[in-house]
Amino acid sequence: MTFRPPYPLVHTDLDATLLNHDTYSWQPALPALTRLQELGIPLILNSSKTLAEMQELATELNLSHPLVCENGSLIAIPRNGDFSLSEIETYFPSIEVTKNYWLGNLGRSRGQFIETLHKLRESNPEYRFEGYSDWSAEDVAKHTGLPIEQAHLSHTRQGTEPIHWHGSDEAYKRFLGELAQYEIQAVAGGRFIHISGLSDKAHGLRKLNELYQLKHPQRELLTIALGDSPNDLNMLNAADIAVVIPNKEKLRPSAQKVIYAQEPGPTGWNTEMLALLEQV
Ligand SMILES: [Mg+2]
Repeated sequence: MTFRPPYPLVHTDLDATLLNHDTYSWQPALPALTRLQELGIPLILNSSKTLAEMQELATELNLSHPLVCENGSLIAIPRNGDFSLSEIETYFPSIEVTKNYWLGNLGRSRGQFIETLHKLRESNPEYRFEGYSDWSAEDVAKHTGLPIEQAHLSHTRQGTEPIHWHGSDEAYKRFLGELAQYEIQAVAGGRFIHISGLSDKAHGLRKLNELYQLKHPQRELLTIALGDSPNDLNMLNAADIAVVIPNKEKLRPSAQKVIYAQEPGPTGWNTEMLALLEQV
């Protein structure tokens, strides 16, 4: 077998991973972010956040790589970035063209499952929850600690519905069973439970990795993924190197190599990424 030099690429969760859980700051990760740019390694933001939120952050971080939004429901590929339209169009069943992005939908549209979700809640008083579709942007700001402008961006969701569950654990199990019958899933994130169709962050990772592999056939992809919550686990499992950022959840990914960061959020992100970049 011929040796193919590695092509490293990074998928990262945002909240409580690259961003501080409380302040949403990424500044402590600046040294590692700068080093990634110097080395030309794609940094793919892979989050439960909306495109509107992630676009702002990508601009702030000077990134022009694809974004995996709303837990893998939507992939946004910058039109002035790593790929051309001809390179991506066969990979998505339908592509929506916006000013800055080509959008590939991987999940179900939010409208389709919200209706089911609310019907279930009306049908059973045990199913007590509230979520983004019940809230104004002001409520979102209150529940997330986001400034109001950011809360508006977070409110523009296309593929996921974040909720807070107020019922019992037993009722939650029954609720999950009912959702599954409609091919709807619930995945716990750091702040919310995320309801969506059957897509996740790993779908986004795999889809984009296929594109990068096609573009660089002489190289062997080396995927690094970083995350802190159960909704990151599939993404971490699908990577060659998984970096677990400590949080209240104790994740145990099955990736070939797993690194457990000692420090939380962007500080841990920075330390582990700089150490990895010494090796790749
Ligand atoms: Mg997180």
